Amino acid sequence: MEKKDVNKVKDISARALRMMNNPWTIQHEPFEVIDDVYFVGTSWVSSFLIDTDEGLILIDCAMQETLYLLIDSIHRLGFDPRNISKLLLTHGHFDHCGAVRAIQEMSGCEVWIGKDDAYFFTERRDLIVFEDHVPEFRIDHYYDYSKPIKMGEISIMPVHCPGHTEGTTSLFFDIEKDDSVLTCGIHGGLGSYVMRKENLLKSNMPLSLQTTYLESIDAIVDKKVDVVLPSHVGHLVDHDFLGIAKSGDKRKFIDSSVWLRMLLSKKQEMLDIIEKEREA
Ligand SMILES: [Zn+2]
Repeated sequence: MEKKDVNKVKDISARALRMMNNPWTIQHEPFEVIDDVYFVGTSWVSSFLIDTDEGLILIDCAMQETLYLLIDSIHRLGFDPRNISKLLLTHGHFDHCGAVRAIQEMSGCEVWIGKDDAYFFTERRDLIVFEDHVPEFRIDHYYDYSKPIKMGEISIMPVHCPGHTEGTTSLFFDIEKDDSVLTCGIHGGLGSYVMRKENLLKSNMPLSLQTTYLESIDAIVDKKVDVVLPSHVGHLVDHDFLGIAKSGDKRKFIDSSVWLRMLLSKKQEMLDIIEKEREA
């Protein structure tokens, strides 16, 4: 079992490196998910653009290597990336924050991140993973988990969801559509491989992150989320996010069962890992 897990972990790093070196292979068309909320990510890592009355909000900006795809996607939707006012990061890994520096210089936007990931950018740059691919950037704000971030008509509530990283932050906001209010939700970090015992030990991180992760899933699993915005489309179960975009039937993005299914499957994945590690 141990051997298989090690290989899988190696495979994930190799896969990430392959995508980093061949960014055009993960290019994806931008599209509107729901009124004023747009997917501007790749087929591996998501980025979402929210068009408010007062400017643009970007949630995650992916890798430095895919910056040109992000900029192209934003332009193709008819927006100017220089109008990004706020950049909200889900956590401090390279695949979500590699392009921050360029976006920051281009737009002058303010950057938010969970405070517990701040030390990634000072004393533990190794925790960024592929840190040489992440130019330094200025962090303007840490999330205040008691206060929403407001811009125009949009109010985004950050929720601390430690586990994948200590500062992982999920984001929730409401959109008015046809006389109803729909809640959009993005879970900040559901990838389990960094929480494998071997990887936690290797990076000198506490094993307790595994249970912290399970607890933080439990804390938000019952939330009513009508539109799931996946931070990686691969985290979804039986909900073909990019396929829905291709089909053009955008009503299918509204499905309040997706959040629960996604979180329960990711929770189970972690429980299975813990059990196998116990047996090993
Ligand atoms: Zn991550």
